[in-house]
Formats: sequence, structure tokens, C-alpha cells
Amino acid sequence: MSKQTQRKSMDYIKKDYVRTRTMPGKWYLASYTFKFNITHMTPFLEKLKQKKLVGNECRSCNRVFFPPRLVCGKCMVKPDRWVSLRDTAQVATYTIVYTKDPETGEVLEKPVVCIRQDGSDTTHIAQLEPTIDFKDAYIGMPLKVHWKDVTTGGLGDIEYYDVLEDDAKDIKI
Ligand SMILES: [Zn+2]
Repeated sequence: MSKQTQRKSMDYIKKDYVRTRTMPGKWYLASYTFKFNITHMTPFLEKLKQKKLVGNECRSCNRVFFPPRLVCGKCMVKPDRWVSLRDTAQVATYTIVYTKDPETGEVLEKPVVCIRQDGSDTTHIAQLEPTIDFKDAYIGMPLKVHWKDVTTGGLGDIEYYDVLEDDAKDIKI
């Protein structure tokens, strides 16, 4: 098959593509080189080692980023002010990812919980206390950082989030 006809048949497949839940194909991640500058994270990582939390704030829109960002995507300004944050957080959103083992066909449930650290305006994916049934999670669930015994100065120093007692009351109608 010539290159020309190959491309034509690929176009044809794309137009008639049937949307399903699975996508056949391969993505060779190893063939890409990623360069990620983390020098802006240094104060943040040093504080983590001391079991303290900081975010960086954009001087233009006053948003606080946790984990810190190199550039505010809204203002295109480098956030350069460090803000201390409390060790409490809230569940911002969550979902359950279902994966099927290709060999056994067994379907596995994996919770993905997005957390917003109190005092920050952004969210990050984190782990809940292992004894907690993730099906009990709800938006606004109060949490507290559970530190690793030995910290190394990385995001992994937050081992998981403990669940705090919720003093919010349901509105009675
Ligand atoms: Zn901004």
C-alpha cells in the first residue's frame, strides 16, 4: 500500500469512528522528552519537610495556588508572594474510576478525590484515610493533613487526609 492510500484509508476510519468506551491505540510516552521546571517550588518543598504548608499568590488576581504554580494562567503573571496555609482542607470533588483487568476481566474501583486546601483557590488530587469508605465522601467533607512520620520535602510528605467531624447541619425543610 502506498503512503497516499494509507492516509486516505486513515481519514476514512476517522470519519466513521464509532464512539465507544475503549480506545484502541498506543501512545509511546517514552519517545517524548519532558522538561519541567520546579525551581519555583523550592520554598514550598522546604516547608513540606518542616510539615508546614504554603501556597503562592498571584498579585494580580489574588488567587492562592496550592500546589504552587509557575505562572497564573489567568493573568500570565508569576506568583511571587508566599502564603501560609492551614493543615485543613475540604473535598472539592470526587469520582470513581473503573478499570477492567484485561486478563481476568475483573472490574476494579479506584476513587479519585480532589481536595482544596483551606486558604487556597486551587485543587489537587490526594488520598483519603485508608479506613474511610470513599463512597461516604461528599463535596465539602472536612479534612486534615496526615503527615508521613519522616518527611523528605515532597508532595508525598502528605501521606493522606484524615476525615474531621463535620459540624455543618442539614437544613430541615
Ligand atoms: Zn492571577
